Amino acid sequence: MSIFSKLEIPNTLAAGPGPGNTDQRVMDSFVNCGLADHMHPDVLRGMVECKHMLRDLFGTKNVHTFGIAGTGFSGLDCMFSAVLPGDTVVIFTNGTFSGIDALTLRMKAATREELAANALSPDAKSVTVIEVPHGASISGELIDTVLAEHKPKWAFMAHWETGSGRINDLRGFSDACKKHGAMGLVDAVSSLGVADFAIDDYDGVVGWASCPQKGVLCLALTYAPVSFTDQYIEALKSNGCYTYVNHPILAARHWGIIDGADVEKGGYHQTHSGYAVAAFHEALRITLQHGLAQRAKDYEFHEQVLRQAVIAMGCDVTSNMTSLVVLNLPEKMAGREMELVQSCRAKGFGIWPTLSAPVQVRIGILNQLSNAAITDIVNRFADAMNEMGAELDLTVINDQLDAHYANILAAE
Ligand SMILES: *Cc1c(COP(=O)(O)O)cnc(C)c1O
Repeated sequence: MSIFSKLEIPNTLAAGPGPGNTDQRVMDSFVNCGLADHMHPDVLRGMVECKHMLRDLFGTKNVHTFGIAGTGFSGLDCMFSAVLPGDTVVIFTNGTFSGIDALTLRMKAATREELAANALSPDAKSVTVIEVPHGASISGELIDTVLAEHKPKWAFMAHWETGSGRINDLRGFSDACKKHGAMGLVDAVSSLGVADFAIDDYDGVVGWASCPQKGVLCLALTYAPVSFTDQYIEALKSNGCYTYVNHPILAARHWGIIDGADVEKGGYHQTHSGYAVAAFHEALRITLQHGLAQRAKDYEFHEQVLRQAVIAMGCDVTSNMTSLVVLNLPEKMAGREMELVQSCRAKGFGIWPTLSAPVQVRIGILNQLSNAAITDIVNRFADAMNEMGAELDLTVINDQLDAHYANILAAE
C-alpha cells in the first residue's frame, strides 16, 4: 500500500489562455459554502438565479440556457449531442480547439461502420472539415462559399480559436447558416465574458457552448454555460440523442427548465454540487457587476499594452484575441519557444506554448486587468528572455509601460 504525503499545489500566476486566476470572491464562495445536498432549497434557488444571470451574460432570451457540469468540452459535448450518425456537417477549423471539436463531431456523425473502422479518429463521409491555417481567421466569404456548395444540416465554428489566438467571423457564420439553411453551432469557450456580444443577434446559430474558467472566471469543473434556441430543441425532440447526463433537455430540468418553460425550482437530474453552484453564482455576479461592455473594453486596452510591450522586445504577434497574445520569438531566439515557456512555468509564471504546430508562445491576461498585473507579466517575460540571452533593457520597457498607462489615465 502506498500513502503519499499530503498533496500541496502552489499558487501560480495563470498567464495563459485559461484557466485564469480565479477571483478571491469566487474562492471564498466555494470554501464557505455549507454542506448541503443538491435538492436543498438554496442550492436550487442558486441554480435558478445562475440561469437568469447566464441569460444576461449570453444576451439571450433562450429558455434553454444553463450550465453543464464539467469543463468546456462537457458543454460542447452537450451541444454536439443533437448531431446523429449520418448527419451532414460542415466544420471550419483554425487551431487546436476547433480541431478537437471537429474530432468530436466526426465521432458523433460517423456511422457505426465508420466508427468501427477508425474508432479514435473516424472518417465520417457526411462530414466536411475545412482547415484554415493556424494564425489566420475564418472569413465570412469562405463560410458562405462552402455552405452554398454543401448545404449541410449543421455547421460549426469556434468564435475565438484559443489555439492560435484568432477571432473568427461570427456575423458571417450566422448569416451564411441562415442563408443556406444550416443550423449553426458555435464554440464560445474563449469569447464569453471577454467579448461584448449578444447571441440573440446571431440567429443563424442554434447552439452555443462555453466554459467555466476562461472569460467567466469561475473554477474549472464547475459549470460550462450552454444556450440553445427553440429550433435546436425542436430538432432534438424530433430525433433524440445518445446521452442522458448531457442531454440538453434533460440536463436543463435541474436548472428549473421543464417542457420548454421556467419553473420555480428544478427537479433531480444529477447530484449537483453546492460548492460549484456557489462559486459559479459569484463568478456570474462579478462579471455582470463589471458589465460586459466595460469588461470587453478593459481587455482591449490591456491586451494592447501587453502587445506593444512584446513587440518592443522584438516578438512578432500573430493573434487578434483580446484575452491572449500569441507570438513568435525574435529571430535570434527562434526555435527556443518551448525552452522559454518551460523556464517560466518552472518559476510559477504559467504562460503556454501552442498545443499544435507551429510552436508559438501564448501569454494570457484573464483576470489580470490592471496596470500592476500587466507590468508584472511583462517583467517576468522580459526576465525570462534575458536569461536566454535576449539582452533587453528593462528600464526602457518599464518606461514605455509607464508612459502607456500615464497617457491613458490622463485621457480619462
Ligand atoms: C479551452 C477551450 C476548449 C476546451 O475547454 P476545457 O475547459 O479544457 O474542456 C474548447 N474550445 C476552446 C475554443 C477553448 O479555448
